[in-house]
Amino acid sequence: PKVEKMSAEVVDSNPYSRLMALQRMGIVKDYERIRSKTVAVVGMGGVGSVATEMLTRCGVGGLLMYDYDKVELANMNRLFFRPEQCGMTKTDAAAQTLSGINPDVKLESYTMNITTVEGFDRFKRSLTQEDGETSRVDLVLSCVDNYEARITINQVCLELNQTWMESGVSEDAVSGHIQLLVPGGCACFQCVPPLVVASGIDESTLKREGVCAASLPTTMGIIAGLLVQNVLKYLLDFGVVGRYLGYNSLKDFFPTMDIKPNPGCVNSLCVKRQALYKELMSSPVALAAAA
Ligand code: ATP
Ligand code: ZN
Repeated sequence: PKVEKMSAEVVDSNPYSRLMALQRMGIVKDYERIRSKTVAVVGMGGVGSVATEMLTRCGVGGLLMYDYDKVELANMNRLFFRPEQCGMTKTDAAAQTLSGINPDVKLESYTMNITTVEGFDRFKRSLTQEDGETSRVDLVLSCVDNYEARITINQVCLELNQTWMESGVSEDAVSGHIQLLVPGGCACFQCVPPLVVASGIDESTLKREGVCAASLPTTMGIIAGLLVQNVLKYLLDFGVVGRYLGYNSLKDFFPTMDIKPNPGCVNSLCVKRQALYKELMSSPVALAAAA
């Protein structure tokens, strides 16, 4: 069939038509679905802030943003925040920029630490539906830079049976990774030793007290791009959703792997989710209902 050509004017004035082209070209079935999707982004630093901008420009329906920090001049070697936003909380500064780019996105800012006792409860509540049990978001993205925060996200997502994606950039700024975590279906964050080990990043380059970590806007931008590409594939159901993708910029090496859940995981809820997941996978009726 003849592909209808849009006038240059229509294409130029409506950013959405470029996204809808994904549908016309057969990549995505129903791109409009993106408007009904809500994504929670934890950590609005070098990766998280850029991820929220990408999702905003893609027309996502809602974004929940979490961070306890303020914008500082020291952040200007990264993308997204601007010098005049120094002193604002990262979540408020992000809401300001993102609402200017696309006012249709429903933004929720949570200026808070997710790892304190109250923080954990508030974080979980903010993700939970009125029934008090199930999640109200489609995906959670971990863009934090420390172990405790990742463990907290892991626990909340296991409790809510919420799929999430983890991201990280090494302290020497030249490597990074993204990882998919489906409760019971994939390794959880506690199933295997910290991923820096698995991705071959030298542990001696890990965070050391009193040593300033390196950072590059390039690596962080690339990891944000890999992360949001995987988010789009997951939310809109196209291509292959990556389980684990690493990036080593020194060697131009992109390792992929599938990290299976550990039946002996230290987190008992993970072990329970593994059993439930197996049951679901072996029951065609339940599978059809879940689809
Ligand atoms: P750096 O530590 O290198 O100076 P950064 O703190 O901005 O910079 P990034 O890796 O760019 O580090 O971003 C991680 C983000 O995650 C930060 O904005 C940080 O405030 C946020 N973050 C980390 N832990 C938590 C937490 N427990 N609760 C909320 N936000 C967190
Ligand atoms: Zn586990």
